[in-house]
Amino acid sequence: MICPKRTSELLDLHLAPFKDKDPAWEIGISKIAGRGVVATRHLKRGEIIFRDSPLLIGLAAHEEDSLNACSVCMILLPDTRFMCRQGCGLPVCSLCAKKKQHKTDCDLFRSWGPNEPEVANSVIIRLLCVARAINLNKDQRDLIYCLQANLDNNHRTEVRNAAKCFKKFPTDKKVIEMMNRTVAVLRTNGFDKTTDRTNDNQEFNYRALYPLFGVMNHDCIPNSYYTFEEKTNNMIVRAAVDIPEGFEITTTYTKLFTGNIARHLFLKMKKNFTCKCPRCSDPTEKGAYISGLYCRDTSCNGLVVPEITGLPHPNWNCLECKQKSTHAQMMKSQDFASGAINAKNNSNSLRTLIQYLNEKSDQFIPDSNHVIIDAKLTVLQRLNQSREDCSEELAANTRLRYSRDIMQIMDKLGMGDSLVRTQLEEQVRKEEERRAIKQAAEAEKQRKLAELQEKAAEADKLLAALAANGDETAAAIIAAETAPTCAPTAAAATAPTPAPAAELA
Ligand SMILES: [Zn+2]
Ligand SMILES: [Zn+2]
Ligand SMILES: [Zn+2]
Ligand SMILES: [Zn+2]
Repeated sequence: MICPKRTSELLDLHLAPFKDKDPAWEIGISKIAGRGVVATRHLKRGEIIFRDSPLLIGLAAHEEDSLNACSVCMILLPDTRFMCRQGCGLPVCSLCAKKKQHKTDCDLFRSWGPNEPEVANSVIIRLLCVARAINLNKDQRDLIYCLQANLDNNHRTEVRNAAKCFKKFPTDKKVIEMMNRTVAVLRTNGFDKTTDRTNDNQEFNYRALYPLFGVMNHDCIPNSYYTFEEKTNNMIVRAAVDIPEGFEITTTYTKLFTGNIARHLFLKMKKNFTCKCPRCSDPTEKGAYISGLYCRDTSCNGLVVPEITGLPHPNWNCLECKQKSTHAQMMKSQDFASGAINAKNNSNSLRTLIQYLNEKSDQFIPDSNHVIIDAKLTVLQRLNQSREDCSEELAANTRLRYSRDIMQIMDKLGMGDSLVRTQLEEQVRKEEERRAIKQAAEAEKQRKLAELQEKAAEADKLLAALAANGDETAAAIIAAETAPTCAPTAAAATAPTPAPAAELA
């Protein structure tokens, strides 16, 4: 590991364009692992901690059907004739074809002689992010070497496979080693379709390395969260909770709503470490029961949770009757529930899925289980697009209910702000606003009705008084004059006594 001081210097150079003279963070010794990012002063929830720009960025090119994105601006192009006419093997838009960035990429790839430059090849396009490291300056390349890299057996595969796509791929050991290292750093610290590592469901279809973010350590309940600026792809990291001075600023490499076992497995396999955070050390996950399943004994209402062993197949314990179950036994229940929910999710009727979640699913799987949380998030996402086959009322109630359900689980976990929470809060706010408007309209209607009733009652009184005086002609005129304004209560106006308010309401 390169010392924190050198890392700091290189990061300062990288972040110089942001001109942050008094940063709220520094690189320091971490209690979690090696070095980390530490708060230099008290940070308030929501405050921006730092901005980071991608040192390397390129298309992820995972799906063969989305290879027609420009390799510079990354905008999707019409799917004919999007490849560079110069024969570099990269897709590029007509505007970016003239830019300096493409000239650099183009010269490099043409010098390697792509075998089929006119065909969009995912291996070549994907390699661009790695190959761009070659044209970085020395400090920038050193910064890559400062970041953690999982140098496992697979990290050389990508460059080896890419070499087959070119006629004159470099053979210089130093260049190959640097590219391999970059692959390893990207795999350990980079973004690659963030579905894997994001703490939110935000779209990020690139492959990118944010160096300062890369230094941050993991916590299953991170105290920061990030968003991306659309135009620049710069990352903004904010405090998710208040962070006292001297505390480490953490992020999460896993999804927020996965159970202990799944997170452990992911961190072990992909990131090569075992997390020992408070959530991971608690079988109930701070009472949020994200892995929770029902006891197999049907006469027991207890929740069953996996033991904390660090093993991929731990035993599970019922918190009520203390009965032990094997991992395989509990996985059967989990798979059954996941299958049932997925079937409803794929049935194309959103209303059916909502009804199932509201009325059926908790008979066989607790509402706290990650499958249910995911399903609710999916429902909210679909409702955001359109309410499909749901009535307005059902859509509105569901938005409010599911958003609150998920926020409640986040509260139990002790999770502060995140993009997900912002979105959920927005749903709740909108729905509460809609209800308030509806209520105000209803109150206004009632007020008008009462006003009319009052007028009708006055008219009645007047009529009665006139009739008593024997002046029936005047009474008839007044009745004719008051009738139109009292239209909704015309019946009341002619009746001997005004109808009771309750009847009218
Ligand atoms: Zn472009
Ligand atoms: Zn080109
Ligand atoms: Zn953890
Ligand atoms: Zn039990």
